[in-house]
Amino acid sequence: MIRRAAVVGGGVIGAGWAARFLANGASVSIYDPDPAAPRKISEVLKNADAAYAKLFPMRRPLPPPQFSDSIAAAAADAELIIEAVPERVELKQKVYAEIEESSAAAIIVSSTSGIRPSVLQKNMKNPARFLVAHPFNPVYLLPLAEIVCGEKTAPATADKTAAILESMGMHPLRVKKEIDAFIADRLLEAAWRESLWLVKDGIANTEDIDAAICLGFGLRWAQMGIFDTYRIAGGEGGMKDFLLQFGPCLKWPWTKLTDVPELTEQFAETIAAQSDAQSGQYTVREMERIRDDNLIAFLQTLKANKRGAGVSLAKWESKLRAAQTPPEISASAPMQTVRRRVPPHWTDYNGHMNESRYLECFSEATDSVMRAIGADENYIAAGNSYFTAETQIKHLNEIAADELLHVESRVLSAAGKKLRLFHEMKNENGEPLATGEHLLIHVNLQTRRSSMPSEKVQNTAAEAAALHAKLPRRD
Ligand code: NAD
Repeated sequence: MIRRAAVVGGGVIGAGWAARFLANGASVSIYDPDPAAPRKISEVLKNADAAYAKLFPMRRPLPPPQFSDSIAAAAADAELIIEAVPERVELKQKVYAEIEESSAAAIIVSSTSGIRPSVLQKNMKNPARFLVAHPFNPVYLLPLAEIVCGEKTAPATADKTAAILESMGMHPLRVKKEIDAFIADRLLEAAWRESLWLVKDGIANTEDIDAAICLGFGLRWAQMGIFDTYRIAGGEGGMKDFLLQFGPCLKWPWTKLTDVPELTEQFAETIAAQSDAQSGQYTVREMERIRDDNLIAFLQTLKANKRGAGVSLAKWESKLRAAQTPPEISASAPMQTVRRRVPPHWTDYNGHMNESRYLECFSEATDSVMRAIGADENYIAAGNSYFTAETQIKHLNEIAADELLHVESRVLSAAGKKLRLFHEMKNENGEPLATGEHLLIHVNLQTRRSSMPSEKVQNTAAEAAALHAKLPRRD
């Protein structure tokens, strides 16, 4: 991962990139000449922050980016520079010339949706360090980035960029040959063109077309692409049967193929009016939040099922977890194990955090204690862990959406296979919200039976219990 990134062009894509870098611990400087850019970027970052709070319970709020007043100032110390200015070749080339004035070695990444990198890098002094990484909106949630090299891109630039993106929870997809519009936008353009024809010919309005996507094949595509889906459609005969059965339809005049309807003023107005009727009641930011909430729920399901974007998310989550410093064990204060804002979807019909979430927080706190005593990701991967055998929770006070809570934890005792923990949840003013006492048993993950912890874990846990015994006692 890199320590410093620059973003030139802070629109919807630039701000999304900024959020992803910030979430991964890099500092980010942004240049955008639009005086409204800081406000717009802050709005996107706020949405990104809310999304990450739901996705990664353990993470801290996003730090703010730096706003620079020139490309030179933004690019100066960056290791990687993202270009996300409007889709115009001359503008992008001008930006690269300015970047090259102030940055000699950084990787320069264009976010272009479809312009070939060979065209973009044509006038550069050092084109070997330039490539395209085409992301998807919202960049802070969707993992895909199409990596496209131009004729003069050094293979090492692509390797390094792919590694950086992967370390940021993304899925770099190498496009094997440079073409206009790459892979995804070529597919999307075909669907977009057909959609415009369907409206133009009065067969459907914008809402009908969106329903045809969202209620049917759109649901399938996040977890299986077109080839896997059609393989299933081929039944026991599989892909070959499907091709033989439905292949000939492609020669029927079902689609408009490459014709594009003429985008007259009147046609544009028809589409815009239908779109207003469909979703005009929402602002763009509101629509982004609706989209993000659904994407988060899909991503969590895909993670649980180890499929599609869920695989990238699981890797990212475990990397973020591993990068967290475990809480300190001392005799002067309990361990600070959880700190988070209550996401709105954690509250119930009583307008406060649902009781199941208290246990979720205590479970996070237990994970954090486990890391502190050495029962971390590597320990678990090696086949050892602790299972909770008994839990007792006291609910003392309520907490509402968006309020901050934290958990203080201590080891009550650690003897042999048994580990006893005490968690105290408090609000921002330090008032108690709940306490949890948990008995954990050490387990061998192969046999699923209780087992002795490693000597190191056993000793650290016993040391923690001895230190925490010196803290003022709680009832
Ligand atoms: P946008 O219009 O939202 O943002 C572009 C930003 O660039 C604006 O804030 C503008 O003020 C700024 N800008 C203009 N001239 C500049 C300059 N000289 N220096 C610095 N900033 C400048 O556009 P966007 O949707 O964020 O698209 C940016 C790039 O990302 C385009 O190449 C686009 O094709 C690509 N892209 C867009 C999407 C998408 O869904 N919107 C998806 C993938 C890739």
